[in-house]
Amino acid sequence: MFRCGGCGKKQEFVNSGRFRVNANGKSVDVWLIYRCKKCKHSKNLTIYERTNPGRIPMELFECFMNNDMDAATEYGRNIDFLKKNNAEFM
Ligand SMILES: [Zn+2]
Repeated sequence: MFRCGGCGKKQEFVNSGRFRVNANGKSVDVWLIYRCKKCKHSKNLTIYERTNPGRIPMELFECFMNNDMDAATEYGRNIDFLKKNNAEFM
């Protein structure tokens, strides 16, 4: 569960299976997009933040660019990743 900016309270979020990549010169941000089950408000979960693109494995980067569902599912199951993004578990 995450706090939803749309509903203004904690809600169940679903993995959209889509990544967002923002490359800015020598630094790259990568997010996995989650959506509120109720209002569809989106939430970007940080995967990489201001990271040198050379530090991201090429194969993984391709997954981000192609919105690879398996990679998205894998992140969705990664408790540490979710916790880092302030997920709350029942
Ligand atoms: Zn919501």
